[in-house]
This record gives sequence, structure tokens and C-alpha cells, in this order.
Amino acid sequence: MAGILFIISAPSGSGKSTIVNQLRSLVAGLEFSVSWTTRGPRGSEVDSREYHFTTREHFEEMIRHDEFLEYAEVFGNYYGTARSTLREAFAHGRDLLLDIDVQGAGQVRRKCPEAVSIFLMPPSPEVLALRLRNRSRAEGVVREAEIEKRLARARLEIENYREYSYILVNDILDRAVEEMAAIVAGERIRRNGAGETPDDERLLQIADGCRTANSEARVRPVLDAFGVTDSTGGPGPRHRMRAEEQA
Ligand code: ADP
Ligand code: 5GP
Repeated sequence: MAGILFIISAPSGSGKSTIVNQLRSLVAGLEFSVSWTTRGPRGSEVDSREYHFTTREHFEEMIRHDEFLEYAEVFGNYYGTARSTLREAFAHGRDLLLDIDVQGAGQVRRKCPEAVSIFLMPPSPEVLALRLRNRSRAEGVVREAEIEKRLARARLEIENYREYSYILVNDILDRAVEEMAAIVAGERIRRNGAGETPDDERLLQIADGCRTANSEARVRPVLDAFGVTDSTGGPGPRHRMRAEEQA
């Protein structure tokens, strides 16, 4: 049986890596895709653990050889998911989690419509700025211009939230981790035809509460805080990010 493809996207600094790291110890049989990137290692990052770090020349050669399931340019660097990562995970009977940006998520959804996508939001721009500054401080460099760039991009990314199947708001970390684990469990239960035990029912209930269609009350204050007007009220791709906003 083919594995389940999960996608998680979030504005930089929302807490995605923190949540994904905790998920590693909670959920078995879920592989974490290691992307390729042309950006340099940050903080304690290790080659082939957080990313496969490479040169622009090599990345462009991989593009020419059609080695990527998806790729995008984010903050002036290339990031991409190799097709081989997907093949290997599914060959071993594992589910795969891709941590990719909004542009990459759109590409994957078009190629793999059965993929389960999750959008993680920070509670507000103020909290996001605080987390970005704290992380920069811990890594020994605080570049205000970089932080401003990420805050501006966060708003544009959040505008695309309706394209995702599930929404998480990372306010209380433990709750966000529990919800993420419930979404993975819920999708497995649904596809593998279980769902009988009280614990299965509890997980399905938590996961259902995170569905985009059921998240209006949680999402509204975040949209308001970021100044995102959501006048459509309906689902559908928005893709508002222009090329110059993506760089
Ligand atoms: P991302 O991977 O989305 O860019 P990180 O996981 O690196 O973000 O988190 C950014 C910063 O926010 C880190 O310093 C992390 O410890 C902190 N953080 C993450 N989630 C929470 C949370 N729920 N409450 C407080 N701080 C958090
Ligand atoms: P960072 O440099 O903070 O690790 O990541 C910056 C952004 O690039 C994040 O939004 C992250 O999700 C995204 N990203 C990481 N890997 C990939 C990838 O393989 N493809 C795409 N499209 N985006 C990625």
C-alpha cells in the first residue's frame, strides 16, 4: 500500500521545526524528508540531517535532470524535495512528511492530489517577531532586516491558508504537537479502516477540529492580527505571492 504524503507549511519562525522534532519521538513509521538547499547551514545544523546543503550550480543541474518533485526559491535560495526521497520512503512502507513552503506545497498538491496538507500559523505578528528574535539570539546573530523580511513574507503566506486541509495555531506548544500527532493518526485510521477504540475516536475528534473548514474561530483572530482580509469566505487557491515578493 502506498504511504501517506503529509505536507506542513508555516511562516518562518512559527515553530514548525520545533513541532516536527517533537513529532519524531511520538509517531512511528513517519519519515521526515530532508530537502536540498543552496543556503548555508544555520546554528547547529548538520549536512544531510536538517538539509542536504549544496551549491547553486549543483541544484540547477538537479533541476535540469528533473530530479525534484518540487522546488522553489525562498529568501534568495533554492529549496527542493528530491523525487528519490519519496520513492525510498514509500518503498519502505513509511509515510512521509514534507516541510516545504507555500509555493512547493502548491506544486505537490497538483502532482499528488491525495497529499494531506497542514498549515501552521503563529498566533500573531508580535509573537512571531519575538520567536524570530529569540531564535536569532540563540544562534548568535540578530539581523533586524532578515526578521523584517520574514514578517512581511509571513502575511503573504498566511493568505494561502485555505488551500490546506488542516490548520494549526502554534500558541501552546504541547497542544500544537498533540494536534499534529492526531492529524497523522486520524489520516491513518481513515485510510486503513480502523477507528473503533475510544482512543481512535478521541484522535479523530481532535483531527476533525483542526480541519480548515472547522477552524474559523481559531483562525479569525490570527488573520485580524496580521491584517489579512479574507473576503472570499470560500476555498480556492489564492497564489497572491508575486515573484519579487518570493525572493
Ligand atoms: P520554524 O521552523 O517554523 O522556522 P522554529 O521551530 O525554529 O521555527 O521556532 C522558532 C522559535 O520559536 C524557536 O526559538 C522555538 O524554540 C520557539 N517556539 C516554537 N514554538 C513555540 C511555542 N509554542 N511557544 C514559544 N516558543 C516557541
Ligand atoms: P529555512 O531556511 O528557515 O530552513 O526555510 C525557509 C523556508 O523554506 C521554510 O518556509 C521552509 O518550509 C521552506 N523549505 C524547506 N525545504 C523546502 C523544500 O524542499 N521545498 C520548498 N518549496 N520549500 C522548502
